Amino acid sequence: MSAIPRPSRSHRLVTATPIRVSFEFFPPKTPEMDVALWDAVTRLAPLDPDFVSVTYGAGGSTRERTHTTVARIVRETGLRPAAHLTCVGATKAEVDAVVGDYWAAGVRHIVALRGDPQGGAGSPYEAHPDGYGSSADLVRSIRNAGAFEVTVSAYPEKHPESPSLDADIDVLAAKVDAGATRAITQFFFDNEIYLRYVDKVRARGIDIPIIPGIVPVQNFKQTASFAARTGASVPQWLADRFEGLDGDPATRRLIAAAVAAEQVFDLVDHGVRDFHFYTMNKADLVYAICHLLGLRPKLEQVAA
Ligand code: FAD
Repeated sequence: MSAIPRPSRSHRLVTATPIRVSFEFFPPKTPEMDVALWDAVTRLAPLDPDFVSVTYGAGGSTRERTHTTVARIVRETGLRPAAHLTCVGATKAEVDAVVGDYWAAGVRHIVALRGDPQGGAGSPYEAHPDGYGSSADLVRSIRNAGAFEVTVSAYPEKHPESPSLDADIDVLAAKVDAGATRAITQFFFDNEIYLRYVDKVRARGIDIPIIPGIVPVQNFKQTASFAARTGASVPQWLADRFEGLDGDPATRRLIAAAVAAEQVFDLVDHGVRDFHFYTMNKADLVYAICHLLGLRPKLEQVAA
């Protein structure tokens, strides 16, 4: 008696519908961090991501560094960069100038955000008197400034300031009405939360791609504390997996790879084909997960 062979999930992954990925980096503060960032970019570039994004420090604190990093990506690689931009604590003229500088540098994709309140996450948000009042206003202005692609944030567990998930989805709808063409989610660990959120967003009539933001857990304690600030829940099963490993980074890395692979494979099984990875400027875990997903080096993206 012979059973009909069923292709394993990993076999299907390498051969099925292509997976598309994007990678998020943060601008480096020191020469050492610059080397680490560029190592990560160089390692991940041959996977031919859809785009790579560079964050904008709280309150615009990395304005110059973000610009320098994005401009270098344009100059030295074949990658398509997306520059994050917030409108907190800045006049419209200042924000418009940054948008103009990006256009001049060859950037055509902006991740448009309101940004955290200047008093820090949790304190009340006040728009600059001469600034953009909301992320939707920022999106509209960027779209009017040029042929930019504009990506925005989405919060499957609602933004901490939001009174309800429905109110949060109203804000997403306003950003889409203003011209946003894609959303990237806050990171999450329970896929059901994301899948239910996408259902709700679709029921609300929003049809732009809602790309799951995946954070490989490089350091559980750090991730848990970041999650607490951003309103992302950390399931007990995840804490259990990292229990007792504080002094064992090698095992932690193996567990982190297994956890992230499990999460993305489950999303693939639910039909998800696009993933945004929060790399923390470290390539190895993300590279391994992309390899498992069937991605192989394609182009020599980075100049020698
Ligand atoms: P929005 O989507 O505009 O709003 C989020 C929530 O805030 C709303 O749902 C609502 O509850 C409330 N809210 C906003 N405006 C109003 C209003 N007018 N009236 C009532 N309620 C309102 N931060 C950075 O500093 N730099 C970055 O590079 C960066 N990148 C990010 C990338 C992604 C993919 C994500 C998910 C977040 C990122 N953030 C970044 C964090 C983000 O700036 C904070 O979460 C910030 O507090 C909200 O900005 P937003 O554009 O997401 O807000």
